[in-house]
Amino acid sequence: MKKVVKFGGSSLASARQFKKVGDIIRADKSRRYVVPSAPGKRNDKDEKVTDLLYQCYDAASQGGSYKKILEKIKGRYEEIIEGLNLNVNLEHEFAAIEENFIHKAGRDYAASRGEYLNGILMAAYLGYEFIDAAEVIFFDENGNFDSEATNRELAERLEHIEKAVIPGFYGSKADGTIKTFSRGGSDITGSIVARAIHADLYENWTDVSGFLVADPRVIKNPEVIETITYRELRELSYMGASVLHEDAIFPVRKEGIPINIRNTNRPEDKGTLIVESTCRKPRYTITGIAGKKGFCSINIEKAMMNAEVGFGRKVLEVFEKYGISFEHMPSGIDTMTVFVHQSEFEEYEQSVIAGIHRLVEPDFLELESDLALIAVVGRGMRATRGTAGRIFSALAHARVNVKMIDQGSSELNIIIGVKNADFEAAIKAIYDIFVTTEI
Ligand code: ASP
Repeated sequence: MKKVVKFGGSSLASARQFKKVGDIIRADKSRRYVVPSAPGKRNDKDEKVTDLLYQCYDAASQGGSYKKILEKIKGRYEEIIEGLNLNVNLEHEFAAIEENFIHKAGRDYAASRGEYLNGILMAAYLGYEFIDAAEVIFFDENGNFDSEATNRELAERLEHIEKAVIPGFYGSKADGTIKTFSRGGSDITGSIVARAIHADLYENWTDVSGFLVADPRVIKNPEVIETITYRELRELSYMGASVLHEDAIFPVRKEGIPINIRNTNRPEDKGTLIVESTCRKPRYTITGIAGKKGFCSINIEKAMMNAEVGFGRKVLEVFEKYGISFEHMPSGIDTMTVFVHQSEFEEYEQSVIAGIHRLVEPDFLELESDLALIAVVGRGMRATRGTAGRIFSALAHARVNVKMIDQGSSELNIIIGVKNADFEAAIKAIYDIFVTTEI
């Protein structure tokens, strides 16, 4: 049995947290490959080392005063070294980092040092081998992750290494420059390592006991999702459920490796298991609800639109021209509506409207802003009658006006458009009807 274990920033924010992590790793011999993040926040008011590194680099590379921030960063690692009684001295490392900052080694290089240094400490603490991610995780010259070259190299390197620590978040380009994934990217590194070693399980340790059925900022103490499929997760993460980086499922998905989200502060909790496919029935008809505010819709009307071949393509061409991606596009016989992110659309609003007029000559065009989209996701919906009926009657009871409905052909999700102001009420109504009343 081989497991890859990734620990997030809050799990490694202090010596105290490191000790919990050490206990977790030592409790199971199969936890052989460890991917650490940089030290995160120790409390709400604290700062993440990654953020400090960006600040420090920006100051140093522009000739500003950076020493104070650098001392703060050093202090974070010293606390861990002292608290764990490690025989490690990072002075040389920090001297090199300072030098490289002044010589403008790049913001990615700067941010990556958080994971790099934490990896060194973690390896020393566990007695595992340290492997610099720059030697095994590769990006092409355009900065895109090179999955196949990485997989080959990592598999080869790790084949004969029993136990290793590989820092998360970064890798390198062919010319040696450091490149990071987007924020939260250590999740992706863990997944890449799991794929390369054909792990039985990828454990992703964080500070919550798994994915929640709904956002805890909207629903008080929501239930935890026990099992979720990659596809369901993708729908929920896209709509804002943020426990795992949304790209982290792709490498393990190629190999059918499950991901288990676990809580470092409550290791007894089973967390959420993310799988390719499962016969396990979800506890409720729906697996989860997620949503986002800040959309707007462009409603287009034209008599006989249905008979005009190429109408839809021409409309979408206008959005494409301005680099605006569309989210949903429900249509009627003589109407078509395009949902877009308000922030992406605002700048080009008038040009898009003019473009649509020019290309398709609509009878009527109207914009509606401040809309929210809510995704109700669940593999169980396909086999259950009346799910949509229950959702809409719950919304009607909560006096929420539904602006748009879209059920994907996979029957895995129903997307509902409502006014931003109705967002919370809508989520509460849906949660209550499927979860609270079914408990
Ligand atoms: N330390 C990085 C961040 O704060 C990457 C990670 O934690 O996954 O985004």
